[in-house]
Amino acid sequence: MPKYLALKIDVDTYRGTREGVPRLIETLKKHGANATFFFTLGPDHMGRAIKRVFRPGYLGKVSRMSVREHYGIKTLLYGTLLPAPDIGKRCGDIMRRVRDEGFEVGIHCYDHIRWQDHVVDKDAEWTARELQRAVDRYVQIFGDAPTCHAAAGWQMNREALRLMQRHGFAYSSDTRGSHPFLPTWNGEIINCPQLPTTLPTLDELVNRDGLTLDNLAHYILHLTEHQPEQSQVFTLHAELEGGKWLPILEQLLEGWKAQGFELVSLAQYRASLDVAELPMHEVELREVDGRIGALAVQGELYY
Ligand SMILES: [Zn+2]
Repeated sequence: MPKYLALKIDVDTYRGTREGVPRLIETLKKHGANATFFFTLGPDHMGRAIKRVFRPGYLGKVSRMSVREHYGIKTLLYGTLLPAPDIGKRCGDIMRRVRDEGFEVGIHCYDHIRWQDHVVDKDAEWTARELQRAVDRYVQIFGDAPTCHAAAGWQMNREALRLMQRHGFAYSSDTRGSHPFLPTWNGEIINCPQLPTTLPTLDELVNRDGLTLDNLAHYILHLTEHQPEQSQVFTLHAELEGGKWLPILEQLLEGWKAQGFELVSLAQYRASLDVAELPMHEVELREVDGRIGALAVQGELYY
């Protein structure tokens, strides 16, 4: 069986969509890599919360300058001093181009900050409404129904997980973990496979334990080299790897190809799985190194 390195691209902001996404398309094509782009389909309110996207240590060491460098001064002001641009309304052409170039497209969220900050504490009605906004916008943009979802900030609740099944998504990638599974929530089985992110993200690693921009790729390649039989899901961000960190992404793509990975979309990875054979794992909320607060993770084996 081939081993896959599935590339999951989270697109969080207006700037990331306009500038990062086209650069990523070009780079992926150059390397013969497929990928899945998960879009933020509604307003860009990231200015309200950009600092909370990163762990305190990262900000402390890398400084506010760097956040401005990656996200642009305007992003920091959207939803505060500047009106929030509606990403889906303004960037539909870019999103369709991603699909037309042969990449998979999916839902990240409608409003990144709303979902990331609130979904854990919200009820079924709020969660369904918020996801429906993303689904409706997706249909407007692409003309057909979405088939996959990747939760903003790896934040989920029970109802959100149920909705993955109810919307008939082929899979969902809302968790951190080690291998694909069928999720349970307090023992309730949700019939929509989870393809968890299996590797750390660059922003979780940089400036920790002697890791710098110069040796980050080497470190991640070391991780995949030492699990030679295992397929992986790597999450990158249009704002980071589609921006200043593009050279690091290129090192990774080269390295993974040299290690014998096929660089694929999550749909391709999903197609290789026999869902009936997947183990069931409880979804738990837990801290993950390098991130603030609790994330949805692949917990104990349920069955
Ligand atoms: Zn995101």
